[in-house]
Amino acid sequence: MAIYRNPGKVKNLSQIGIGKQIVNLKKMKHAFILLFLLTSITASFSQKVKSTANPNKNYVMQSVDKHQQELISISDKIWAYAETALKESKSAKELADYAEAQGFRVKRGLAGMPTAFTAEFGSGKPVIGIMGEFDALPGISQKAQPTKEPLEANAAGHGCGHNLFGAGSLGAAVAIKELIQQGKLKGTVRFYGTPAEESVGGKIYMARDGLFADLDVCLDWHPDVQNAANTQSSQAMVDFIVEFKGKAAHAAADPWNGRSAVDGLEAFTDGVNMLREHVRPSVRMHYAIVKGGDVPNVVPEYAKVWMWVRDSKRDGVEEVFKRVKEIAHGAGIIAGVDSRVTVQTGDYELLVNRTGAGALQKNLEIVGPITYTDYEIAFAKKIQEVQGGEQVGLDGKIYPLKETAEHPTGGSTDVGDISWIVPEITLIATTAPANTAWHGWSVVACGGMSIGHKGMVFAAKSLAMTMVDLFENEQLRKDMRAEFEQRKGGHVYKAYIPAGPPPVPPQD
Ligand SMILES: [Zn+2]
Repeated sequence: MAIYRNPGKVKNLSQIGIGKQIVNLKKMKHAFILLFLLTSITASFSQKVKSTANPNKNYVMQSVDKHQQELISISDKIWAYAETALKESKSAKELADYAEAQGFRVKRGLAGMPTAFTAEFGSGKPVIGIMGEFDALPGISQKAQPTKEPLEANAAGHGCGHNLFGAGSLGAAVAIKELIQQGKLKGTVRFYGTPAEESVGGKIYMARDGLFADLDVCLDWHPDVQNAANTQSSQAMVDFIVEFKGKAAHAAADPWNGRSAVDGLEAFTDGVNMLREHVRPSVRMHYAIVKGGDVPNVVPEYAKVWMWVRDSKRDGVEEVFKRVKEIAHGAGIIAGVDSRVTVQTGDYELLVNRTGAGALQKNLEIVGPITYTDYEIAFAKKIQEVQGGEQVGLDGKIYPLKETAEHPTGGSTDVGDISWIVPEITLIATTAPANTAWHGWSVVACGGMSIGHKGMVFAAKSLAMTMVDLFENEQLRKDMRAEFEQRKGGHVYKAYIPAGPPPVPPQD
């Protein structure tokens, strides 16, 4: 478990880029000037509150500013807890308790997961959902500094920025809740605390339990190296285990009495690697040998390989997975051992909704761009220097809406599943510099200081403004639904997970 890092105000300010100035001023002992400087820095961090013709949009931007320090504090605590998939008890509690204190109706321990929860406010239609993640990744603990140094050796770290993701989405939900409370919006806002994105995909279990079924629209965001209303799909995938069971024997005395499970495993991986030549370019197959015998002088009784098959579409995954299952069966026959394939989880590809992305885009143009201090730019460039990338600093710009990318590479997400149940809007926001190894120490570093905080505040404002559009504009909801139905076609969503409860590990 990571060490709790006190998200004190002075520390935050020093991270925002005035460390050097503070030192100089302290030397001068002009407390008055220091106070003036601190005040102006706080204001610049908030960025100038923009104004639109829509009073509700102006309100949500001000609301996020009002709650900014609380959101940063929650994010920093979750960053320091750095809890991994399905063990995020303190992180989930942090978010759920805050929502409860803000007046939301909170339901905890959903879909068989102690850390899954919803927080709801208001009543009736429309019902607008927003998702927040909070799980960390094992082994990448890191201090909030631009050179590699763990906060705690071998501990977990937020290398995907999910500490920001959860707190930012909740900040948007709180702003909307205040408008519903004031009678300025009608309907229901529901925050989803979704665990274990980095392993089994908590959203898929929540989806299987029907928790998204009554939504009109769902939103989410993800930390990234640039800002955009997402128009890129993601890869569909299936995550499974292949096991071989043979018969142990003395490898020199009576090998003829043994049957090697590792032979089965090797025949299987040979087969998979032959298959590579005959799949579409969009297919990705990767495996790790989890168990491959213990010692050379015993014929191995058991072998296990963990594998993922991905493609840009669910149908492509199905086609390749069918072949892989046949290869596992064949490998068992070759080695004279039993084979077994067990699905652990799987994601759908993200169904892009351009109508929704267009609505978000307009709000990004009002909120952005994100501006950075000299300290933050230097912090980012130092990371780029250390990682051997071009020192381009940070990208806080707002670009025009991109073309829809239907066949992307680069990964999978359980948000994909939700996008087949309800029209989905996804934002990406800058929380780290480009030329950075994602799921690595530098993303952890930025997520625990002002670069990450700024991305989170930007996300909260942009999503809250888009939610204002969704509550106010029935035609927008109808248009999004029509596009959703057209893209989805006749497909009926079915969660790609085994029957039974999620594999919740023992809680610490
Ligand atoms: Zn992530």
